[in-house]
Amino acid sequence: MENHHYDVIVVGSGIGGLTAAVDLASHGKKVTVLEQHYMFGGACTTYTRKGGFKFDAGVESISGLGKQGPVRHFLQRHGMMENITWLKNTYEFRYDDEIFEIPHKYEEWRDRLIVQYPHEAYGIKQFFTTCKAAYEEKYTVFAPDRVIPRIPKTKGEMMEYPAKNPNYFRWMRSTWGEFLQAFIQDSVLIQNLSMLTGYVGDLGLKTPTSTMLSIMGYFIEGGYRPQGGSGILADQLVKKLRSYGSEARINTHADSIMIEENQVKGVRTNKGDFFAPVVISNTDPRVTYEKLIGLDCLSAAYQEKVRQLEPSMSLISWSAALQTPFITERLISHKFSKPVEFPANGLTVDGIAYHSAARLDESLAPNGCGTVVIMFKASPSASYYQQMGEQQYLQRKQEIDMKCREFLAAIDPIAEKSILFSEVATPKTVERYMKTYEGSIYSTKMDKENGFPSLQSPIGGLYLAGAGVGEGPGIEAVVITGATVAELIRSNEFTCI
Ligand SMILES: Cc1cc2nc3c(=O)[nH]c(=O)nc-3n(C[C@H](O)[C@H](O)[C@H](O)COP(=O)(O)OP(=O)(O)OC[C@H]3O[C@@H](n4cnc5c(N)ncnc54)[C@H](O)[C@@H]3O)c2cc1C
Repeated sequence: MENHHYDVIVVGSGIGGLTAAVDLASHGKKVTVLEQHYMFGGACTTYTRKGGFKFDAGVESISGLGKQGPVRHFLQRHGMMENITWLKNTYEFRYDDEIFEIPHKYEEWRDRLIVQYPHEAYGIKQFFTTCKAAYEEKYTVFAPDRVIPRIPKTKGEMMEYPAKNPNYFRWMRSTWGEFLQAFIQDSVLIQNLSMLTGYVGDLGLKTPTSTMLSIMGYFIEGGYRPQGGSGILADQLVKKLRSYGSEARINTHADSIMIEENQVKGVRTNKGDFFAPVVISNTDPRVTYEKLIGLDCLSAAYQEKVRQLEPSMSLISWSAALQTPFITERLISHKFSKPVEFPANGLTVDGIAYHSAARLDESLAPNGCGTVVIMFKASPSASYYQQMGEQQYLQRKQEIDMKCREFLAAIDPIAEKSILFSEVATPKTVERYMKTYEGSIYSTKMDKENGFPSLQSPIGGLYLAGAGVGEGPGIEAVVITGATVAELIRSNEFTCI
C-alpha cells in the first residue's frame, strides 16, 4: 500500500503551484502535486487534436525572461533555462483596417509611431523614455538573480527608494490611462499602447501602471513561447520536481482539504487521502475557501470577505485546424470602431485577439498545415452556459463558430477555405478544465489595497498560490507568487512528518 504522507501537498499544477513545489522539493521537502486534469500546467498546457494539431489552452507569450526577469532567474536556478527553446513573438495592433506592426526593438517602435503620429512626436518620445526607465527601476528589486522582489525594508532603504527610482516612484500609484494621458492625447494611439491590458484583466486604462510596466516588458525585452507549446514549461517543472525526489499526479481531484482544530491535516481526493501538515492550494481562492475548506471553518468576518470575492474576466476562444499555414505569425490585437453583436449569446464584441502558434512553431501542426485561434472577452458566466440544455448550448457555440469563420474570412480568406475542423471554448469550458469560479481565466479578483486574499490563510498550514493571490495573473506573476509562498513556508519552519 502506498505511503501518502508528505511534507507539503500542492492542490493544482498551475505554474504557481509547480513553482512552489519545485522550490520546496529543491530544499529537501517531500512534496506531492495533485492535479485533477489529465495534463499538468493549468492555463499553461498544450493539447493535441486529431491529425496531430496542437493548441495552447491559454498562454501564448511569456514575460519575465529578460536579464533581470524573475522567470529567467527561477529557471536558471534550477538548470531549466537551456532545456527550453524560446521563440520570440511579434505583436501587431489593428484598429479597423489600420495596421501597426510592433518591431522587436522598443526604440524602433517609438520611431515608427513618431512617423505615424507626427503631431504627438514630443509626447511619444517622453512616454517611451519614462516608461523604459520606470520599467528598469521596477526590476532592480530582482537584481542580480532574485525571483522574489527585494522590497526596501530598513528606514534608510525606504528613504533612498524615491531618489534611486524616480520614474517608477512617480508613476507606480497611477492608472495606465493617467500615465499615458500625461504624454499622449490621440485615442487610437492610446489604445495601441494599451493593447495588452487584457493580459491582466478587464480594467483597460484603469489597470495600475505598476502592473502594466511588467506588461510593457513584452515590448522592451520580448515575449516568448516555448518551442513545442506552452505546456513544455509545465512539463519541465514536473520533470525537475521528480528529479528532486518529489512527485506529481494527474487525474487526482481534491474533493476537500482536511482540517482538525484549525490545522491542515491533508487532502481528500478521488484517489484516496493524502496527508501533510502543509497544503498549498493553487486553485481559485473563492473555490478553495467555499468548496475545499467550507466556509464554516472561517470566522464570520472572513466568510464575508470570501463571499465578496468576484471572478475576473473570462473569454470565448475559437480554435481551428487549417490545411494551409495561417497568413502571419504575429499576435494580433484588433479593435473595432463598430462592435459586432452575437445576439444568441447576448454578447457585444468590440475587439478580438488572434494568432497562429503553428505559424511561428511548425512543430505544432502537421507538415504544410496550420492553426489559428481567435479570442474575445466574455463575462465569467460558466453557470449561464451550464444551466442550458445540450441543444441550446450547441446553438450558442454554432453562432460563435459562424462569426469566427466570418472574422477569419476577412483576415485570411485562404485559411478560411482550408478549415479542417474548429472548436469553441466558453466560460463553461474554462470552468471544466481550470475549476475557477464561474470560469474566470484569471481566478478571483484581488483586493490589492487590503491584501486579500493573502498567501497565508487563517488555517494553520494552509497557503494559497496562483493568479488569485500575490502578484496576480500571468506566468511571470505566478512564478513570483509561487516562489514567495515557498519561502514563506520555509521561514515558518513546519514540522516534517
Ligand atoms: C486563455 C488564457 C490566455 C492566457 N495568456 C497568457 C499569456 O499569453 N501569457 C501569460 O503570462 N499568461 C497568460 N495567461 C494567464 C496565465 O496563464 C495564468 O495566470 C497562470 O497560468 C495561472 O497559473 P496558476 O498557478 O494560478 O494556476 P492555473 O493555471 O489556474 O492552474 C490551476 C490548476 O489547479 C487545478 N485544480 C483546480 N481545482 C483542483 C482540484 N480540486 N483538485 C486538483 N486540481 C485542481 C486545475 O486543473 C489547474 O490545472 C492566460 C490565461 C488564460 C486562461
